[in-house]
Amino acid sequence: MKKLPRVECPRCGRAIAAGPVAGRMSKGRLWRHDAPGARRDAEGVLVSCADSLTIVDLPLPSVQLEIEIDVPAPAPDDEMALF
Ligand SMILES: [Zn+2]
Repeated sequence: MKKLPRVECPRCGRAIAAGPVAGRMSKGRLWRHDAPGARRDAEGVLVSCADSLTIVDLPLPSVQLEIEIDVPAPAPDDEMALF
């Protein structure tokens, strides 16, 4: 199983897994994650951190070695339909 690098979210400061961005090997997309405090809106749905899915620089130069790897789809998440 491939491990994703973790990048500090610029908004909430948590270490969030960053998925690959097609064609941009030095970039990663912050995994969708709940806002600090995990608030819920009127429908009871968890509120995402505003920087979920933000494109960030990856800290690991070794990502270049992984170009040939067929990266698996993001982990199942009932709100990952954006992908
Ligand atoms: Zn965040």
